[in-house]
Amino acid sequence: MRTPDQKEEHREDIGCLKAIEMFYAYIDGEIDDPESVADFEHHLEHCRSCYSRAEFERLLAERLKSAAAERASHGLRKRLRTLMENF
Ligand SMILES: [Zn+2]
Repeated sequence: MRTPDQKEEHREDIGCLKAIEMFYAYIDGEIDDPESVADFEHHLEHCRSCYSRAEFERLLAERLKSAAAERASHGLRKRLRTLMENF
């Protein structure tokens, strides 16, 4: 049984797989549904490995943006992609 006021405190965990799926859309601000954003952030608050990954990728995204602004960086992107696949 769940009562309406339990909804926020007992938000269902979306799990690591779903969190990773949502990851890039979240970073790019492409998730329109506030509930989905809340679900994602809720998972990050409770999952250390996804939280670490989020921090890592956020920094990476910032680096990529500034690197791309300076010069075309296909080689860098390729190396980073390989790095991320092995992360
Ligand atoms: Zn997780």
